[in-house]
Amino acid sequence: MKCSKCSEKAVFLVPKFCKKHFIDYFEKKVFETIKKFSLVNPKEKIVVACSGGKDSTAVLYLLKKFHKKVVALAIDEGIFGYRNKTLIDLKKFCSKNNIELRIYSFEKEFGKTLDEMLKQKQHPCSVCGIFRRYLMNKYARGFGKIATGHNMDDESQAVLMNLMKGNVDLLWHSVPMTKKVGNFVQRIKPLYFCSEKEVAAYALLKGFEVSFNECLYIKDSFRNQVRDALNNYELENSGTKLNILKKHLLMLEKIKFETSFFQYCSVCDEPAKEDICKACQLIKSFK
Ligand SMILES: [Zn+2]
Ligand SMILES: [Zn+2]
Repeated sequence: MKCSKCSEKAVFLVPKFCKKHFIDYFEKKVFETIKKFSLVNPKEKIVVACSGGKDSTAVLYLLKKFHKKVVALAIDEGIFGYRNKTLIDLKKFCSKNNIELRIYSFEKEFGKTLDEMLKQKQHPCSVCGIFRRYLMNKYARGFGKIATGHNMDDESQAVLMNLMKGNVDLLWHSVPMTKKVGNFVQRIKPLYFCSEKEVAAYALLKGFEVSFNECLYIKDSFRNQVRDALNNYELENSGTKLNILKKHLLMLEKIKFETSFFQYCSVCDEPAKEDICKACQLIKSFK
């Protein structure tokens, strides 16, 4: 099968492109998202939340190419057999591409690795999520924004999950750029319109040394069920995921944005919805 733009062999099927034309197509799509939604200002430095996986590595590489002023920030949750491996890839990538890398660990910050925390029977993804978001926000403060590797698959899953759970506030998180609220650092998602398959193909074609494995804990999650359902639906109805996101953005335009009430944690001073933030509540429960 041939590329739809030249006589080279196609390496990607929908759209049908050779290596060069696929890379051009993908980079153009990401740069257009950055421009259309004004994800970066020329003066600011962007923190990229990195895991060593394909998505965040692609964001890191493309923001470095587009914007130059980037710092990589990684959280070592202490997931043995997973994060220790992906961090090795990330260190290599950053030194090769001349990018500053900062790593913060659960163990150093909270006294326990995620593996150790889970011996106390909490749901892995919610514990991990609370602490990851906490550290990202804390250490990204002072920079312009936090860029994450969320792709079209992640975001369309999140929209469906939040609809099913009635999490109205969280619907505002599934956007290319979150709104400025209090002391929270704004999030940007340059891969918002790129499918998981496209990001994987891009990472492979660019020869990024990244892990394609998923976190060892993901098997238990509700997200996994939603992901399978959406993938099946996409097979029968091509364009479903993109359509969900487009309609989601259209609907948000018609809804008034109201920031849910928040204050500052009485223990650590980070933003919180209650008197004590979720991270401090969890740490307290370990003692
Ligand atoms: Zn071509
Ligand atoms: Zn706190």
